Amino acid sequence: MTGSLSAQQAQSLKEFRAFADDAIAPHADAWHRAQRTPEHVVRLLADEGLLGLPVPRQYGGGGCDAVTLGLLAGELGRACSSIRSLLTVHTMVAHAVARWGSRAQKETWLPRLARGETIGALAVSEPGAGSDASSVTTRLTRDGADWIVDGHKKWTTYGHTADLFLVVGRGEQGPTALLVERDTPGLRTELIEDLVGIRASMTAHVYLESCRVPDANLLARPGLGVSHVVGAALDLGRYTVGWGCVGILDACLTASVDYAGEREQFGSPIKEHQLVRRMISNMYTDARAARLLCLEAGRLRDERDPGALAATSTAKYFAATAAGRAALDAVQIHGANGCGADYPVQRHLGDSRVMEIIEGSAQLHQVGLAEYAFQERGARRSER
Ligand SMILES: Cc1cc2nc3c(=O)[nH]c(=O)nc-3n(C[C@H](O)[C@H](O)[C@H](O)COP(=O)(O)OP(=O)(O)OC[C@H]3O[C@@H](n4cnc5c(N)ncnc54)[C@H](O)[C@@H]3O)c2cc1C
Repeated sequence: MTGSLSAQQAQSLKEFRAFADDAIAPHADAWHRAQRTPEHVVRLLADEGLLGLPVPRQYGGGGCDAVTLGLLAGELGRACSSIRSLLTVHTMVAHAVARWGSRAQKETWLPRLARGETIGALAVSEPGAGSDASSVTTRLTRDGADWIVDGHKKWTTYGHTADLFLVVGRGEQGPTALLVERDTPGLRTELIEDLVGIRASMTAHVYLESCRVPDANLLARPGLGVSHVVGAALDLGRYTVGWGCVGILDACLTASVDYAGEREQFGSPIKEHQLVRRMISNMYTDARAARLLCLEAGRLRDERDPGALAATSTAKYFAATAAGRAALDAVQIHGANGCGADYPVQRHLGDSRVMEIIEGSAQLHQVGLAEYAFQERGARRSER
């Protein structure tokens, strides 16, 4: 399916694949068990320029197109969903700054984010605010030229190690986004352990107690924190998570094909049993369909097509639910070995659960996609 890529995109894919195979995949199970991403791996990604790949060139990034970013997320997702989630949250923050930041904010933060000198994290969710991001209760109060931030953010991916937090709190004019640096007095993080998936992702609580943040760190106008800033970040996050799920599908398919060819029961490899073949056929179909949907979303994003939003939501929803099905079947094909820690399918199963919850749960996409269907039907009717 690489035939539809440009020569440059195909070359990038080759390089991403080699990097993921050599530097990430062999260690992913160990990081998963240790529940840590080693610092040198973050440095390696930064040194390879991968964390800054989509940042505009004028700010020192790679200025890559959406399809190329997707191919990178797919290869990282195939190797390790935690590392793919680092790419996701870091690029979400960079994208929000590029889209909604002032000139000074772009000049200050984008080169650092592009080089991976500063790692970004998105601190929106709270113990009481999940799917409904606009219900955040973190308090933002004005004090002269500063903001005072008080609140508790939860589930912040790479929050335990990130340097820059995109925090959304509630000010007088509604949800408002601020960039908060790690060394701000009053900010403290605490690692959340024993997650079901993306266990190496250094996901954390972020506590903010009377944090003083300069007004220069306000992103967009007060009141636009969720509708505009988080909206833009989530759209990109959905895109890279969708591609990450294409990677999970590929990994489950490869592991299942290999195992079904080696494992013998009733005198033949289990791949000869029709019900095992059915699971592999379903995985194969889902993997191809998810890749095509993500490629379509990437192309529409590159063409600035207004349909890109719906295509991205469709791709994320399909890829995440398909990755969930594939991981379940991959464990089933591995039998008892799928339940143990010796095979990576156990990791994919946990990771795939998270994919159906983050960047819009499967249910929120179902609700939203129906809305797109009604709108498209209405538009076609009015064209007549
Ligand atoms: C590993 C991990 C990493 C995360 N990383 C981040 C991060 O970096 N930054 C961040 O801000 N957040 C992060 N999150 C939080 C994530 O964004 C939320 O989990 C997500 O928004 C869903 O919110 P919730 O878990 O509170 O579920 P809830 O919103 O409480 O939903 C619970 C259930 O109800 C369903 N539901 C809710 N509303 C509706 C509706 N209107 N219609 C139908 N069904 C509905 C949901 O689909 C779900 O099944 C992370 C979460 C996890 C697990």
